[in-house]
Amino acid sequence: AADPPPAEDISADDIFIAVKTTKKFHQSRLNLLLETWISRNMQQTYIFTDGEDEELKKKIGSHAINTNCSAAHSRQALSCKMAVEYDKFIESGKKWFCHVDDDNYVNVRTLVKHLSQYPHTQDMYIGKPSLDRPIEATERLGDNKMKPVNFWFATGGAGFCVSRGLALKMSPWASGGHFMNTAEKIRLPDDCTVGYIVESVLGVPLTRSNLFHSHLENLQQITLSYGMFENKSNIINLKGAFPVEEDPSRFKSVHCLLYPDTPWCPPQVAF
Ligand code: UDP
Ligand code: MN
Repeated sequence: AADPPPAEDISADDIFIAVKTTKKFHQSRLNLLLETWISRNMQQTYIFTDGEDEELKKKIGSHAINTNCSAAHSRQALSCKMAVEYDKFIESGKKWFCHVDDDNYVNVRTLVKHLSQYPHTQDMYIGKPSLDRPIEATERLGDNKMKPVNFWFATGGAGFCVSRGLALKMSPWASGGHFMNTAEKIRLPDDCTVGYIVESVLGVPLTRSNLFHSHLENLQQITLSYGMFENKSNIINLKGAFPVEEDPSRFKSVHCLLYPDTPWCPPQVAF
């Protein structure tokens, strides 16, 4: 469905895109993103990792941020990264905070169009829930008291966005060391903790968007979107451009559709 008329005239520069990664994925995942969508959006993309990488610094300079968080896949390590993402966003002064994983392709044009429907000063939390019902958690209140809480959260693996207006209100639970303390209070991962702060603490409902997709649906979504072109030559060109063996993520093929002037895209893909 077409987006309603814009509430605000924003550009890509108004968006802070945080990519969460870890040193062991710099080669296997991050390079693909740097070659594709990040290359067109260097100014708005920040990479949050857990180790020094001179090659990465050469490519993206100060936008490569070593969080100094542990490289473990623990709840603490992941919420440590989200805490740094949040603080850097606040510092940036930008209008929208968007978080993605290093296995996400971001169509920034569509993102800009989508976010421009909403004023960034309003309380907005946009993404896609991974569950079909609110998550049930237990909040630790201190002196051994527990309280059951239910809330929706946007799955981090599909990407989500928070308006600056809402992000500022999250500060007492998210800024500095507070995010990690909040995550410990409910003992849930980073993306759930964002949902907890937004829905449970601040009472702001998640705005569901079908434009965000997690890796569980990625291949299906890409196949569907090719089908939706209803243009056989597009489908054939796409298949001919990069076979699945060469482009298993399909990111290169998608990128050539979005940016056909990219030097490494096969010429027949430039419509
Ligand atoms: N990740 C991380 N530290 C780790 C493992 C993963 O920061 O030790 C990041 C990874 O780079 C990705 C996200 O966490 O951005 C999700 O990881 P992955 O896609 O491997 O797992 P999923 O949760 O999607 O199954
Ligand atoms: Mn993943």
